[in-house]
Order: sequence, then structure tokens, then C-alpha cells
Amino acid sequence: MKRTHYCGELTIKNKGENVLLNGWVQRSRDLGNLYFIQLRDREGIVQLVIDPERCNEQTMQLFSDIKREYVLEVKGEVVPRNENINPDMKTGEIEVLVDDIKILNKAKLPPFHIEDNLNVSENLRLKYRYLDLRRPFMNKIMRTRYKLIDTIRNFMRGKEFIEIETPFLIKSTPEGARDFVVPSRMHQGKFYALPQSPQLFKQLLMVSGFDKYFQIARCFRDEDARADRQTDFTQLDLEMSFVEQDDVLTLTEQLFKVLFKEMKGIDIKTPFDRLTYDQSMDMYGSDKPERRYGMTLTDLTEIFKDCGFKVFSSAASGGGVVRAIVLKGKAEECTRKKITEYEEIAKKNGAKGLAWLRFTEGEINGGIAKFIKDKEDALKETLSLEDGDVVFFGADEREKASNALGAVRVHLIREFELIEDKDFFDMVWITDYPLFEKDEETGSYIAKHHLFSMPTSDTIQYLEKEPEKVYGILYDLVINGSEIASGSIRVHNPELQKKIMKTIGMDDEEIDQKFGFLLDAFEYGAPPHGGIAPGIDRLLMIMEGMDNLKDVIAFPKTNNQMCLLTGAPDELSSEQLEEIGIDIVKSEK
Ligand code: ASP
Repeated sequence: MKRTHYCGELTIKNKGENVLLNGWVQRSRDLGNLYFIQLRDREGIVQLVIDPERCNEQTMQLFSDIKREYVLEVKGEVVPRNENINPDMKTGEIEVLVDDIKILNKAKLPPFHIEDNLNVSENLRLKYRYLDLRRPFMNKIMRTRYKLIDTIRNFMRGKEFIEIETPFLIKSTPEGARDFVVPSRMHQGKFYALPQSPQLFKQLLMVSGFDKYFQIARCFRDEDARADRQTDFTQLDLEMSFVEQDDVLTLTEQLFKVLFKEMKGIDIKTPFDRLTYDQSMDMYGSDKPERRYGMTLTDLTEIFKDCGFKVFSSAASGGGVVRAIVLKGKAEECTRKKITEYEEIAKKNGAKGLAWLRFTEGEINGGIAKFIKDKEDALKETLSLEDGDVVFFGADEREKASNALGAVRVHLIREFELIEDKDFFDMVWITDYPLFEKDEETGSYIAKHHLFSMPTSDTIQYLEKEPEKVYGILYDLVINGSEIASGSIRVHNPELQKKIMKTIGMDDEEIDQKFGFLLDAFEYGAPPHGGIAPGIDRLLMIMEGMDNLKDVIAFPKTNNQMCLLTGAPDELSSEQLEEIGIDIVKSEK
């Protein structure tokens, strides 16, 4: 390598040095008797000065050919800028007086300027991602990502974890989401799946005695992408033997303490708060509670048991609940139009509607106020209503009412920008999740997290007859209302594992076909074990205060799972299809 320095690293300390630089042309300027080029590499930009009195004829001629993004090799001398110091540039105290320039490659005019504060569509950026990644902002994020992963690796090493890779082409083993599948050429008609996570392999590694495993693991889930979700993503996957829940939580807290210190210079408080799933649902209407603002749910079931408003009284007396949140002081801003919008959100989250009222001039009015006048005093007192408050109600089964109100609550917090300290990171563990939930469509039980979590000792008795009452030793780490990690203590006893599989409707044959290998392994001395998997993309996004997961991934996919850069997914040639024995039958849609 001929290069002596990176452009962006030159400082006044290099004064007088002869340097050889490589980089891309940010821009060039012709001032008649002097010519300037800004040359960029991964470390930043430096100004080159081409003085006709210093350069030979050939270099002068070359200058007129040079355009944006041309790739150059430049020889020159670092000189101080003296009175022309540019305080906005890292290298602003110096410039490089050019002796010689070589054009290493030409460049077409890029579809957007290589600079921050771009105002172009995300799709254009994704199509030309290699240019997008040249921008300082993206360069910085990718390097922050590398630092994060490096810091994780150092920490894990320090705790004596062993990094082990697990395969990408695996057997399709249901883990909650849809698998991506890969047809086998050698075994036509058979398919591999891409791992939704290394879950079963890390459990097998515990059976193998590795005791403490980790991996910076790529995971694949065929789900609709969203702002905070991608089809392929990266987790820190870890598993430990002979541990209890507290061991996993404490290790994770230590890790996060180091990460926030190293990456952000922030001392986070440990241990993190803990809420059980039920507490979190009851208070925040979510198992991913945004706790940087109050507006918690208040239970009004007792008050409305005997009221004349049927929607409330039947929910309250029929085993359900009536709950409310109070939006403080926003009665005027909360127009009918907005309330209709909030109602849509409640409905999307399982509610039949969204009852509301305002408290103005000392009394309740609007919305459902006229139906519950007799409860006005009780409401005023229980909710500590003040003039200007707006109240939203949820009346339904416990989980449904809370969920819908929880979604409205988060929307209101965002819309009215109610969080004061945006730089604060709120960390909370959510523990004791129900092991199962009912699939709304089929009515049968499905695992709430995955099938491999250990039931709590005081609820395991309900496994066969009332599975909805079984809780798991399951934990999620939530930061600022986002799920950052999930994990559990696992089942290590084959009979119990089988029982759990049967609870979700699998029969012996299916269990054997899908999970026979795991149950077999458990017959050969499986240690008690547990683990967790923090999502690295999402963690980085939150740490950096960003809201688009694509911005922290070098080559992300669009929300409809396309790679705009390469054109994936794509069709296969007829030869390829024949080799894997697949006929494409296009559906009529
Ligand atoms: N495999 C789980 C997941 O990806 C995490 C875990 O339980 O360790 O969500």
C-alpha cells in the first residue's frame, strides 16, 4: 500500500510532511489561478490545493477532467492554512499542496450528493446503498455497530463464554414465526429452513457440556418487515448451564452496564427494575412498557359494576374490567377528528371502540359523559381529574381492554411529545410471562415465546387441564418501550418438554418428527440451562436515538422484503429449478 495517511486524519501535526493520499472527490473548485479539490476517505475530508506554479503541466490538465466521486491518488505536502482556517472541518487547519495527481478511476455522476442531511427517498438510498454508505452519517453508524459488537465480544470473553457458530441450513423447527425455506438439490422434495434463532443448537451445546456459549448470530424470520423489524437480523445469542433466572439477568445487566458506559459514556443503574407480565399489562397495557411518562391505567371495574351504561356494567360484572387513562390538560387539542383516530388505534388493538370524555369547567362532558353522570364524583376522585383532562376508557376482557388502552397511551405519548428527558434510558425486566396464549383464529393454544421455556414451579400443576394458568420462567428486557431481549430458563426434562408440545396440539408422531432429536438429546444427561438473546440492530437503534432499523444495517431490506440493491428475491433459471425439482405454478392473484 502506497498510502501514507488517511485524508481525514491529517492535522497541523503533519505540517511539512510529504503525503500520499487515496480517496474520492467530494467536490472541486476552479478559482482561475488556484484550484481546489476536497478529497474524502473513510476518516473524513481534506482540502487539496493545486497551484499552477507548483504542479507540472500534466497535473494541471488532469484537473479539468476530475469530477465528483472520481477516485484519486494524490502526492503533496501538508501546509498550514494560516488565515484561511476552516473551523467546521476536522482537517480545517491544514491543506495539501499537490505535487502529483493520478486518476485511479472515473465515476458517473451519483444520483445524490454524498453528504448528510440528504433529502431523497429511502428507496433511492437503498438502491445505491454503496453510495449511501459513503456518507459520513452511515460511515459513523457502521463503525458504531462494529464497536458495539466488539465490546460485546470482549465482555463475553471476559466472562469465559465460548463463541460457537451454528448452521444456517437447518431443519424447520417451529419457533413462533414463519421459516424461510431452502430447497435441497441433493434430496429433491426436501427443504432446509433458515434459523429463526440458534435456539435448539444452543440448547444442544449445553447438553454437550460447553456450559457458557455465545454467538453474534444472524436470524431469519419470514415476517412483514416494519420500522423496527427486518427479515434477517442479528442477535447476541447466549446460553448458560446450571443457572437460574437471576444469573442470566445479572449477567445481562453487567453487559448492558458496560455497553452503555463504553458506547455512550452513560452510567446506567443496576439492578434494573422488574415488573411481572401481569403488573406491566395492568399498569401500562403492554409488556413493552414506555415508562418515561406516567398516564398509567387505572382500574375502575368496581365503580362501574352497577352503572347504567351497559358497555361498562356488562364488562365489569361479566368477569372483564373497565380501565382508563387520563391525558392531562389536552382537552382543547383533543379534537373529535383526533379522537376518531385514537379509536381506530384501539380497534386495531382488539377493542370494539374507545369510550372517552372530557373534564372541563368542573364537570365531565362530551363522549360518554351523559351516560355515566352518576359516577362523576367517583371518577373525579379516583382519577384526580383537573380541568382540561381527557379520559379514555377500555371495557372488555382484562387483556383486551389493557392492550387497546396501552396502544392508545403510547400513541398519545408520542403525538403530544410528553417525554421530557429523551436522553434517558429506561430499562426494565418483564418476568413471569404466561407460557401459552390462545390463537384468536383457531382457538388452540400456542406458545407465547417459544416451546422450550420452563413453567414456574407454582403453576406447572395446571399444564394439562388449564394451560392458560401456567406461567413460564421467561423474561424480556425492555428499553424505552422496545423489547430488546428475550430469554428463559429452559425445560431440560424430555417428558415435560413433550407435555408442553402436546398442550399446543402436537401428537406423538409430530413431536417425534419435528423435535425427536432434541428429546433424544435430553435423554443423555441434559443440564439445567437458560439463556437470552438481545437484538443487536434494535439495541443500536435505541442507543443512537434513531427510529429506523434500516439505518443501522449495512444492506437492509425494504418493508416488503426486497433488496433494492441486488434485486432479491429473484427468479431462478429453468436449469436451476430443474436441479432442485421445483415447478413454479403462478397463482392467479
Ligand atoms: N431464541 C430466542 C429468541 O430468538 C431467545 C432465547 O430464548 O434465548 O427470541
